[in-house]
Amino acid sequence: HANRPTSEALYEVAQKCIVGGVNSPSRSYKAVGGGAPVYMERGEGAYFYDVDGNRYIDYLAAYGPIITGHGHPHITEAITNASKNGLLYGTPHRLEIDFAHKLQQAIPSLEKVRFTNSGTEAVMTTIRVARAYTGRELVVKFSGCYHGHSDLMLIAAGSGPATLGSPDSAGVTKATAKEVITTPFNDIEAYRQIMQEWGDQVACVLVEPIVGNFGIVEPQPGFLEAINEITHEHGALVIYDEVITAFRFMYGSAQELLNIRPDMTALGKIIGGGLPIGAYGGRQDIMEHVAPLGPAYQAGTMAGNPASMAAGIACLELLEQPGVYEEFDRLGAKLEQGILEAADTHAVTITINRLKGALTVYFTDETVVDYLGAERADSEMFGRFFKLMLEQGVNLAPSKYEAWFLTTAHTEADIDETIAAVNRAFAQL
Ligand code: PMP
Repeated sequence: HANRPTSEALYEVAQKCIVGGVNSPSRSYKAVGGGAPVYMERGEGAYFYDVDGNRYIDYLAAYGPIITGHGHPHITEAITNASKNGLLYGTPHRLEIDFAHKLQQAIPSLEKVRFTNSGTEAVMTTIRVARAYTGRELVVKFSGCYHGHSDLMLIAAGSGPATLGSPDSAGVTKATAKEVITTPFNDIEAYRQIMQEWGDQVACVLVEPIVGNFGIVEPQPGFLEAINEITHEHGALVIYDEVITAFRFMYGSAQELLNIRPDMTALGKIIGGGLPIGAYGGRQDIMEHVAPLGPAYQAGTMAGNPASMAAGIACLELLEQPGVYEEFDRLGAKLEQGILEAADTHAVTITINRLKGALTVYFTDETVVDYLGAERADSEMFGRFFKLMLEQGVNLAPSKYEAWFLTTAHTEADIDETIAAVNRAFAQL
Protein backbone atom coordinates (compact mmCIF):
# COMPACT_ATOMS: atom_id res chain seq x y z
CA HIS A 1 0.00 0.00 0.00
CA ALA A 2 2.99 2.32 0.30
CA ASN A 3 3.42 1.87 -3.42
CA ARG A 4 1.01 4.05 -5.33
CA PRO A 5 2.74 5.13 -8.56
CA THR A 6 -0.45 5.42 -10.60
CA SER A 7 -2.09 7.66 -7.98
CA GLU A 8 0.99 9.86 -8.03
CA ALA A 9 0.94 10.07 -11.82
CA LEU A 10 -2.79 10.88 -11.89
CA TYR A 11 -2.34 13.58 -9.25
CA GLU A 12 0.35 15.22 -11.42
CA VAL A 13 -2.06 15.36 -14.35
CA ALA A 14 -5.03 16.36 -12.19
CA GLN A 15 -3.20 19.41 -10.88
CA LYS A 16 -2.85 20.67 -14.44
CA CYS A 17 -6.58 20.72 -15.07
CA ILE A 18 -8.44 20.66 -11.75
CA VAL A 19 -7.72 23.34 -9.19
CA GLY A 20 -5.53 21.79 -6.50
CA GLY A 21 -6.16 18.44 -8.22
CA VAL A 22 -9.38 17.91 -6.27
CA ASN A 23 -13.06 18.74 -6.61
CA SER A 24 -13.52 19.32 -2.91
CA PRO A 25 -10.69 20.67 -0.74
CA SER A 26 -11.27 18.08 1.97
CA ARG A 27 -10.01 15.40 -0.44
CA SER A 28 -6.50 16.86 -0.61
CA TYR A 29 -3.80 15.56 1.73
CA LYS A 30 -2.63 19.08 2.55
CA ALA A 31 -3.56 18.72 6.23
CA VAL A 32 -1.87 15.34 6.66
CA GLY A 33 1.59 16.15 5.36
CA GLY A 34 0.77 16.52 1.66
CA GLY A 35 1.41 14.18 -1.25
CA ALA A 36 -0.80 12.53 -3.81
CA PRO A 37 -4.22 11.44 -2.57
CA VAL A 38 -5.16 7.85 -3.31
CA TYR A 39 -7.06 7.54 -6.57
CA MET A 40 -9.79 5.01 -6.15
CA GLU A 41 -10.83 2.76 -8.99
CA ARG A 42 -13.65 0.76 -7.49
CA GLY A 43 -15.61 0.43 -4.29
CA GLU A 44 -17.29 -2.76 -3.15
CA GLY A 45 -19.00 -3.07 0.22
CA ALA A 46 -16.57 -2.01 2.95
CA TYR A 47 -13.64 -1.96 0.54
CA PHE A 48 -11.95 0.33 -1.93
CA TYR A 49 -9.51 -0.72 -4.63
CA ASP A 50 -7.14 1.96 -5.83
CA VAL A 51 -5.73 2.45 -9.32
CA ASP A 52 -2.61 0.48 -8.32
CA GLY A 53 -4.65 -2.52 -7.22
CA ASN A 54 -4.31 -1.95 -3.45
CA ARG A 55 -7.29 -2.83 -1.29
CA TYR A 56 -8.44 -0.62 1.61
CA ILE A 57 -11.03 -1.01 4.33
CA ASP A 58 -12.93 2.24 3.96
CA TYR A 59 -14.10 4.35 6.92
CA LEU A 60 -14.51 7.56 4.94
CA ALA A 61 -17.85 6.41 3.47
CA ALA A 62 -17.61 9.43 1.17
CA TYR A 63 -17.92 11.70 4.26
CA GLY A 64 -21.09 9.96 5.35
CA PRO A 65 -23.51 9.06 2.56
CA ILE A 66 -22.28 5.51 1.87
CA ILE A 67 -23.84 3.97 4.98
CA THR A 68 -24.73 0.68 3.26
CA GLY A 69 -21.27 0.22 1.74
CA HIS A 70 -20.03 0.84 -1.78
CA GLY A 71 -22.19 -0.25 -4.69
CA HIS A 72 -24.97 -1.85 -2.71
CA PRO A 73 -26.94 -3.93 -5.26
CA HIS A 74 -30.33 -2.80 -3.94
CA ILE A 75 -29.44 0.86 -4.48
CA THR A 76 -27.68 0.25 -7.79
CA GLU A 77 -30.72 -1.61 -9.07
CA ALA A 78 -33.07 1.17 -7.99
CA ILE A 79 -30.95 3.76 -9.80
CA THR A 80 -30.72 1.59 -12.92
CA ASN A 81 -34.47 1.04 -13.01
CA ALA A 82 -35.22 4.72 -12.48
CA SER A 83 -32.79 5.79 -15.19
CA LYS A 84 -34.45 3.50 -17.76
CA ASN A 85 -37.43 5.85 -17.62
CA GLY A 86 -35.36 8.93 -18.37
CA LEU A 87 -33.03 10.87 -16.11
CA LEU A 88 -34.75 14.20 -15.64
CA TYR A 89 -38.23 15.48 -16.42
CA GLY A 90 -38.54 19.02 -15.17
CA THR A 91 -42.06 17.99 -14.15
CA PRO A 92 -43.36 16.48 -10.95
CA HIS A 93 -43.29 12.68 -10.74
CA ARG A 94 -44.34 9.88 -8.44
CA LEU A 95 -41.02 8.94 -6.82
CA GLU A 96 -40.59 12.35 -5.20
CA ILE A 97 -43.93 11.93 -3.40
CA ASP A 98 -43.02 8.39 -2.30
CA PHE A 99 -39.74 9.62 -0.91
CA ALA A 100 -41.21 12.70 0.79
CA HIS A 101 -43.73 10.42 2.54
CA LYS A 102 -40.98 8.05 3.63
CA LEU A 103 -38.97 10.92 5.09
CA GLN A 104 -41.97 12.37 6.88
CA GLN A 105 -42.75 9.02 8.47
CA ALA A 106 -39.21 8.81 9.80
CA ILE A 107 -38.90 12.48 10.77
CA PRO A 108 -42.33 13.75 11.84
CA SER A 109 -41.20 17.39 12.24
CA LEU A 110 -41.03 17.60 8.43
CA GLU A 111 -44.63 18.73 8.03
CA LYS A 112 -43.64 19.90 4.56
CA VAL A 113 -40.44 19.11 2.73
CA ARG A 114 -38.57 20.26 -0.40
CA PHE A 115 -35.70 18.48 -2.12
CA THR A 116 -32.50 20.23 -3.18
CA ASN A 117 -29.24 18.96 -4.71
CA SER A 118 -26.89 19.32 -1.76
CA GLY A 119 -26.72 19.91 1.94
CA THR A 120 -25.30 23.36 1.25
CA GLU A 121 -28.43 24.36 -0.65
CA ALA A 122 -30.70 22.87 2.00
CA VAL A 123 -29.10 24.81 4.86
CA MET A 124 -28.79 28.02 2.83
CA THR A 125 -32.50 27.87 2.08
CA THR A 126 -33.61 27.20 5.64
CA ILE A 127 -31.90 30.45 6.59
CA ARG A 128 -33.64 32.36 3.81
CA VAL A 129 -36.99 30.93 4.85
CA ALA A 130 -36.35 31.73 8.53
CA ARG A 131 -35.54 35.30 7.56
CA ALA A 132 -38.67 35.52 5.43
CA TYR A 133 -40.79 34.12 8.28
CA THR A 134 -39.36 36.27 11.08
CA GLY A 135 -38.54 39.42 9.12
CA ARG A 136 -35.16 39.44 10.88
CA GLU A 137 -31.63 39.13 9.54
CA LEU A 138 -29.13 37.85 12.11
CA VAL A 139 -28.12 34.19 12.28
CA VAL A 140 -26.42 32.38 15.15
CA LYS A 141 -24.18 29.35 14.64
CA PHE A 142 -21.84 27.33 16.81
CA SER A 143 -18.14 27.77 16.21
CA GLY A 144 -16.50 24.95 14.32
CA CYS A 145 -19.74 23.59 12.93
CA TYR A 146 -19.82 23.19 9.17
CA HIS A 147 -23.08 23.86 7.40
CA GLY A 148 -21.99 23.81 3.77
CA HIS A 149 -20.23 26.45 1.74
CA SER A 150 -22.80 29.22 1.35
CA ASP A 151 -21.25 32.64 2.14
CA LEU A 152 -23.04 33.03 5.42
CA MET A 153 -22.11 29.60 6.74
CA LEU A 154 -18.39 30.00 6.04
CA ILE A 155 -17.96 32.06 9.17
CA ALA A 156 -16.18 30.02 11.87
CA ALA A 157 -16.76 26.87 9.84
CA GLY A 158 -15.21 23.63 11.00
CA SER A 159 -14.53 20.55 8.91
CA GLY A 160 -12.75 21.36 5.63
CA PRO A 161 -12.06 25.07 6.23
CA ALA A 162 -10.70 24.45 9.73
CA THR A 163 -8.65 21.51 8.45
CA LEU A 164 -6.92 23.81 5.98
CA GLY A 165 -6.05 26.25 8.73
CA SER A 166 -8.70 28.94 8.51
CA PRO A 167 -12.27 28.56 9.70
CA ASP A 168 -13.33 31.51 7.54
CA SER A 169 -13.18 32.02 3.78
CA ALA A 170 -11.86 34.82 1.61
CA GLY A 171 -14.48 36.24 -0.71
CA VAL A 172 -17.17 36.50 1.93
CA THR A 173 -18.08 40.16 2.36
CA LYS A 174 -17.69 41.99 5.66
CA ALA A 175 -21.39 42.78 5.49
CA THR A 176 -22.20 39.05 5.36
CA ALA A 177 -19.82 38.25 8.19
CA LYS A 178 -21.66 40.82 10.33
CA GLU A 179 -24.89 38.88 9.89
CA VAL A 180 -23.56 35.84 11.74
CA ILE A 181 -22.91 35.49 15.45
CA THR A 182 -20.87 32.50 16.62
CA THR A 183 -20.80 30.92 20.04
CA PRO A 184 -19.34 27.71 21.54
CA PHE A 185 -21.26 24.42 21.32
CA ASN A 186 -22.43 23.01 24.65
CA ASP A 187 -22.27 26.42 26.37
CA ILE A 188 -25.80 27.42 27.40
CA GLU A 189 -24.77 30.61 29.23
CA ALA A 190 -22.82 31.98 26.26
CA TYR A 191 -25.86 31.40 24.04
CA ARG A 192 -28.21 32.99 26.57
CA GLN A 193 -26.04 36.11 26.69
CA ILE A 194 -25.89 36.43 22.92
CA MET A 195 -29.65 36.14 22.70
CA GLN A 196 -30.13 38.65 25.51
CA GLU A 197 -28.11 41.14 23.53
CA TRP A 198 -29.21 40.36 19.95
CA GLY A 199 -32.27 38.10 20.27
CA ASP A 200 -34.82 40.54 18.86
CA GLN A 201 -32.82 40.70 15.61
CA VAL A 202 -32.08 36.99 15.31
CA ALA A 203 -33.96 35.03 12.64
CA CYS A 204 -32.58 31.60 13.48
CA VAL A 205 -29.92 29.48 15.11
CA LEU A 206 -28.22 26.68 13.18
CA VAL A 207 -27.58 23.57 15.25
CA GLU A 208 -25.99 20.23 14.52
CA PRO A 209 -27.90 18.34 17.27
CA ILE A 210 -24.98 15.92 17.37
CA VAL A 211 -21.90 17.58 15.94
CA GLY A 212 -20.26 15.73 13.07
CA ASN A 213 -17.81 18.33 11.88
CA PHE A 214 -15.24 18.68 14.60
CA GLY A 215 -15.53 15.01 15.20
CA ILE A 216 -18.53 13.38 16.79
CA VAL A 217 -19.56 15.58 19.72
CA GLU A 218 -22.81 14.93 21.55
CA PRO A 219 -24.84 17.67 23.20
CA GLN A 220 -24.54 17.73 26.96
CA PRO A 221 -27.78 16.98 28.85
CA GLY A 222 -30.13 19.94 28.67
CA PHE A 223 -28.16 21.84 26.02
CA LEU A 224 -30.56 21.37 23.10
CA GLU A 225 -33.59 21.90 25.34
CA ALA A 226 -32.10 25.20 26.52
CA ILE A 227 -31.36 26.27 22.94
CA ASN A 228 -35.00 25.63 21.99
CA GLU A 229 -36.33 27.49 25.01
CA ILE A 230 -34.06 30.54 24.74
CA THR A 231 -34.48 30.80 20.97
CA HIS A 232 -38.27 30.66 21.10
CA GLU A 233 -38.39 33.12 24.00
CA HIS A 234 -36.79 35.60 21.61
CA GLY A 235 -39.10 34.76 18.71
CA ALA A 236 -36.40 33.15 16.60
CA LEU A 237 -36.38 29.74 14.90
CA VAL A 238 -34.30 26.65 15.64
CA ILE A 239 -32.89 24.95 12.56
CA TYR A 240 -31.28 21.54 12.86
CA ASP A 241 -28.62 20.70 10.34
CA GLU A 242 -29.00 16.93 10.16
CA VAL A 243 -27.05 16.53 6.93
CA ILE A 244 -24.68 14.15 8.72
CA THR A 245 -26.83 12.93 11.60
CA ALA A 246 -30.10 11.86 9.96
CA PHE A 247 -30.22 8.06 9.60
CA ARG A 248 -26.70 7.83 10.99
CA PHE A 249 -27.59 6.80 14.53
CA MET A 250 -31.10 5.42 14.13
CA TYR A 251 -33.78 5.07 11.47
CA GLY A 252 -34.87 8.71 11.59
CA SER A 253 -32.88 11.71 12.71
CA ALA A 254 -31.04 12.85 15.81
CA GLN A 255 -34.17 14.74 16.85
CA GLU A 256 -36.01 11.41 17.31
CA LEU A 257 -32.99 9.95 19.07
CA LEU A 258 -32.81 12.90 21.47
CA ASN A 259 -36.57 13.40 21.65
CA ILE A 260 -36.58 17.06 20.70
CA ARG A 261 -38.04 19.07 17.81
CA PRO A 262 -36.62 21.93 15.81
CA ASP A 263 -38.70 24.32 13.70
CA MET A 264 -36.88 23.36 10.51
CA THR A 265 -34.42 20.67 9.47
CA ALA A 266 -31.82 20.42 6.70
CA LEU A 267 -30.90 17.01 5.31
CA GLY A 268 -28.45 15.52 2.82
CA LYS A 269 -25.82 12.78 2.48
CA ILE A 270 -27.37 9.43 3.56
CA ILE A 271 -30.84 10.29 2.25
CA GLY A 272 -29.44 10.27 -1.31
CA GLY A 273 -28.00 6.77 -1.03
CA GLY A 274 -24.82 8.07 -2.69
CA LEU A 275 -26.38 10.33 -5.32
CA PRO A 276 -26.49 14.13 -5.02
CA ILE A 277 -29.24 15.31 -2.71
CA GLY A 278 -30.35 17.71 -0.04
CA ALA A 279 -33.71 18.40 1.55
CA TYR A 280 -35.22 20.83 3.97
CA GLY A 281 -38.51 20.97 5.75
CA GLY A 282 -40.32 21.75 8.93
CA ARG A 283 -43.38 23.42 10.35
CA GLN A 284 -46.19 23.92 7.89
CA ASP A 285 -46.71 27.61 8.80
CA ILE A 286 -43.02 28.30 8.14
CA MET A 287 -42.73 26.24 4.96
CA GLU A 288 -45.73 28.11 3.52
CA HIS A 289 -43.34 31.00 3.03
CA VAL A 290 -41.56 29.07 0.26
CA ALA A 291 -42.40 29.71 -3.42
CA PRO A 292 -44.82 29.03 -5.08
CA LEU A 293 -46.91 29.42 -1.89
CA GLY A 294 -44.93 32.27 -0.41
CA PRO A 295 -42.35 34.97 -1.12
CA ALA A 296 -39.12 33.07 -0.25
CA TYR A 297 -37.67 31.75 -3.50
CA GLN A 298 -35.81 28.47 -3.92
CA ALA A 299 -35.56 26.27 -6.99
CA GLY A 300 -33.46 23.61 -8.71
CA THR A 301 -33.25 22.13 -12.20
CA MET A 302 -32.02 18.81 -10.82
CA ALA A 303 -33.96 18.92 -7.54
CA GLY A 304 -36.03 15.79 -6.87
CA ASN A 305 -34.56 14.01 -9.89
CA PRO A 306 -35.80 10.41 -10.27
CA ALA A 307 -32.42 8.71 -9.78
CA SER A 308 -31.67 10.53 -6.50
CA MET A 309 -35.19 9.81 -5.25
CA ALA A 310 -34.92 6.12 -6.15
CA ALA A 311 -31.49 5.83 -4.53
CA GLY A 312 -32.74 7.54 -1.39
CA ILE A 313 -35.79 5.30 -1.07
CA ALA A 314 -33.67 2.19 -1.63
CA CYS A 315 -31.12 3.31 0.95
CA LEU A 316 -33.80 3.93 3.58
CA GLU A 317 -35.37 0.53 2.79
CA LEU A 318 -32.06 -1.05 3.75
CA LEU A 319 -31.72 1.02 6.90
CA GLU A 320 -35.22 0.28 8.20
CA GLN A 321 -34.44 -3.44 8.46
CA PRO A 322 -34.40 -4.64 12.06
CA GLY A 323 -31.06 -4.72 13.86
CA VAL A 324 -29.11 -2.36 11.60
CA TYR A 325 -28.29 0.22 14.25
CA GLU A 326 -27.76 -2.36 17.01
CA GLU A 327 -25.10 -3.92 14.78
CA PHE A 328 -23.50 -0.49 14.20
CA ASP A 329 -23.34 -0.06 17.95
CA ARG A 330 -21.87 -3.53 18.51
CA LEU A 331 -19.16 -3.18 15.85
CA GLY A 332 -18.52 0.45 16.79
CA ALA A 333 -17.96 -0.53 20.42
CA LYS A 334 -15.58 -3.28 19.34
CA LEU A 335 -13.61 -0.88 17.19
CA GLU A 336 -13.49 1.75 19.93
CA GLN A 337 -12.35 -0.81 22.49
CA GLY A 338 -9.66 -2.15 20.17
CA ILE A 339 -8.27 1.31 19.43
CA LEU A 340 -8.26 2.24 23.13
CA GLU A 341 -6.39 -0.98 23.99
CA ALA A 342 -3.87 -0.33 21.23
CA ALA A 343 -3.33 3.18 22.62
CA ASP A 344 -2.76 1.70 26.04
CA THR A 345 -0.31 -0.92 24.75
CA HIS A 346 1.76 1.61 22.82
CA ALA A 347 1.42 4.51 25.29
CA VAL A 348 -0.31 6.80 22.78
CA THR A 349 -2.60 9.44 24.28
CA ILE A 350 -6.01 9.54 22.65
CA THR A 351 -9.63 10.37 23.33
CA ILE A 352 -12.41 8.67 21.40
CA ASN A 353 -15.86 10.12 20.90
CA ARG A 354 -18.26 7.51 19.59
CA LEU A 355 -21.96 7.16 18.95
CA LYS A 356 -23.15 3.90 17.35
CA GLY A 357 -21.15 3.32 14.16
CA ALA A 358 -19.41 6.71 14.06
CA LEU A 359 -16.33 7.64 16.03
CA THR A 360 -13.50 10.15 16.13
CA VAL A 361 -10.01 9.49 17.44
CA TYR A 362 -8.48 12.69 18.84
CA PHE A 363 -4.82 12.77 19.78
CA THR A 364 -5.40 14.55 23.07
CA ASP A 365 -5.90 13.72 26.74
CA GLU A 366 -8.88 16.10 26.99
CA THR A 367 -12.56 15.28 26.84
CA VAL A 368 -13.72 16.95 23.63
CA VAL A 369 -17.03 18.80 24.03
CA ASP A 370 -16.49 21.79 21.74
CA TYR A 371 -14.49 23.02 18.77
CA LEU A 372 -11.58 24.36 20.82
CA GLY A 373 -11.09 20.93 22.37
CA ALA A 374 -10.96 19.34 18.92
CA GLU A 375 -8.65 22.06 17.66
CA ARG A 376 -6.16 21.37 20.45
CA ALA A 377 -5.84 17.70 19.41
CA ASP A 378 -2.46 16.98 17.80
CA SER A 379 -2.72 17.57 14.03
CA GLU A 380 0.79 16.48 13.19
CA MET A 381 0.37 13.17 14.99
CA PHE A 382 -2.96 12.60 13.27
CA GLY A 383 -1.27 13.23 9.92
CA ARG A 384 1.34 10.56 10.59
CA PHE A 385 -1.31 8.15 11.88
CA PHE A 386 -3.44 8.74 8.77
CA LYS A 387 -0.55 7.84 6.46
CA LEU A 388 0.47 4.79 8.48
CA MET A 389 -3.11 3.53 8.32
CA LEU A 390 -3.28 4.14 4.59
CA GLU A 391 -0.06 2.17 4.09
CA GLN A 392 -1.72 -0.73 5.87
CA GLY A 393 -4.87 -0.62 3.82
CA VAL A 394 -7.22 1.45 5.95
CA ASN A 395 -8.76 4.55 4.38
CA LEU A 396 -9.73 7.37 6.77
CA ALA A 397 -10.68 10.98 6.13
CA PRO A 398 -7.50 13.08 5.81
CA SER A 399 -8.53 15.38 8.66
CA LYS A 400 -8.37 15.13 12.43
CA TYR A 401 -11.85 16.67 12.57
CA GLU A 402 -13.66 13.92 10.69
CA ALA A 403 -15.37 10.78 11.89
CA TRP A 404 -14.75 7.15 10.99
CA PHE A 405 -18.01 5.80 9.61
CA LEU A 406 -19.01 2.16 9.72
CA THR A 407 -21.24 0.82 6.98
CA THR A 408 -23.59 -2.16 6.99
CA ALA A 409 -20.94 -3.91 4.89
CA HIS A 410 -18.24 -3.86 7.60
CA THR A 411 -17.77 -7.19 9.35
CA GLU A 412 -16.18 -8.35 12.56
CA ALA A 413 -13.18 -9.51 10.50
CA ASP A 414 -12.78 -5.99 9.06
CA ILE A 415 -12.77 -4.56 12.56
CA ASP A 416 -10.13 -7.09 13.66
CA GLU A 417 -7.98 -6.24 10.64
CA THR A 418 -8.39 -2.54 11.39
CA ILE A 419 -7.42 -2.93 15.04
CA ALA A 420 -4.30 -4.87 14.00
CA ALA A 421 -3.42 -1.99 11.66
CA VAL A 422 -3.99 0.55 14.44
CA ASN A 423 -1.61 -1.40 16.68
CA ARG A 424 1.13 -1.36 14.04
CA ALA A 425 0.50 2.36 13.36
CA PHE A 426 0.61 3.28 17.05
CA ALA A 427 3.83 1.25 17.44
CA GLN A 428 5.43 3.49 14.81
CA LEU A 429 4.05 6.81 16.07
N1 PMP B 1 -24.10 20.41 6.81
C1 PMP B 1 -23.34 19.48 7.40
C2 PMP B 1 -23.54 19.16 8.85
C3 PMP B 1 -22.37 18.80 6.64
O1 PMP B 1 -21.59 17.89 7.24
C4 PMP B 1 -22.22 19.10 5.28
C5 PMP B 1 -21.18 18.41 4.41
N2 PMP B 1 -20.07 17.92 5.05
C6 PMP B 1 -23.05 20.07 4.72
C7 PMP B 1 -23.98 20.70 5.52
C8 PMP B 1 -22.96 20.42 3.29
O2 PMP B 1 -23.47 19.40 2.47
P1 PMP B 1 -23.02 19.28 0.94
O3 PMP B 1 -21.57 18.94 0.95
O4 PMP B 1 -23.92 18.20 0.39
O5 PMP B 1 -23.29 20.60 0.30
